[in-house]
Amino acid sequence: MNRFDYVRATTAAEAVAAASAPGAAYLASGTNLLDLMKGGIVRPSRLVDVTRLPGLDRIEALADGSLRIGAMVGNADLAHDAEFAKAYPAIAEALLSGASAQLRNAATVSGNLLQRTRCGYFYDTASRCNKRAPGSGCDARGGDNRLHAILGWSEACIATHPSDFCVPLAAFDAVVEIEGRNGHREVALEALHRLPGDMPEQESALEPGDLIVAVRLPASARTFAAHSRYLKVRERNSYAFAVVSAAAGLVIDSGMIKQARVALGGVAAKPWRARAAEAQLEGSAAGPAAFSRAAQAALAEAKPSGDNAFKIELAQRLIVRALVSAAQGTSERIPALPASPFSSPAGALHV
Ligand code: SF4
Repeated sequence: MNRFDYVRATTAAEAVAAASAPGAAYLASGTNLLDLMKGGIVRPSRLVDVTRLPGLDRIEALADGSLRIGAMVGNADLAHDAEFAKAYPAIAEALLSGASAQLRNAATVSGNLLQRTRCGYFYDTASRCNKRAPGSGCDARGGDNRLHAILGWSEACIATHPSDFCVPLAAFDAVVEIEGRNGHREVALEALHRLPGDMPEQESALEPGDLIVAVRLPASARTFAAHSRYLKVRERNSYAFAVVSAAAGLVIDSGMIKQARVALGGVAAKPWRARAAEAQLEGSAAGPAAFSRAAQAALAEAKPSGDNAFKIELAQRLIVRALVSAAQGTSERIPALPASPFSSPAGALHV
């Protein structure tokens, strides 16, 4: 491991100044970063510890009906907050679908957003990887790529973003609050992560020194509480990243869909908001015909990047299943346990 400086920041301004130096990285719980450092995949010259910054561990209801979640709130703490889980059940479900209990206890909200891809070639320093070593090539293109992207990928990189949490955040229009060298700004969660293009090493809209201080859910996110679901297909149910996942939220009135939200995980380098699917749903009767049309629309632009053509139909089926489940009503048991989407019973209305 390389030598590095360690800075424990006491204010956000101090953290931003310290992390603006070339080669600096923020350290929160380190559940991803420390593994990357131990494997020689990243070699920061300075770690800026932000775990002692005041005020970043709060969940606050704001006067406009939105909810502000501090960047240092723990994933498990958020998922098991009873009011949060009742108001945003699909988000609680996504949090509990991620990682293991131990990791959820340690991991933070902002760290979840910024975790790196789980592409095996990225973690293998003997492999060519444009994300780790720009210009070196991409061994995933002709290699084992059954879990790689089917949407938004480029010749340079076909990796996916691994977060579950980000998928319903994208669906429900979450906003990320950032402190940077030029002050405070906000970015839609949907715009935080970049598609690879010809620069897969640039994964987000963050600039050097930018510190995520909170994630905010708008008041509108609560309107989907009665009809929400997050489903995740993975290769083992105990602890694995998504092969494909889907978040769905509906507002249903007299059998008609007034509003719809759909997003996918495990399909692209960012959480994938399926607006074409939402357009198919809104104004339609809540039933199989509309759900099937939505699933087709969501994957209309998809193309396999290797061995993963199966993910297209899998994603379509998962969207339909998430919509059926959401339409039946959010489970009374909130947060729903992260079960296999093929074994989950239909929920009963809780609102
Ligand atoms: Fe690297 Fe992306 Fe290729 Fe994986 S898919 S080897 S992360 S360039």
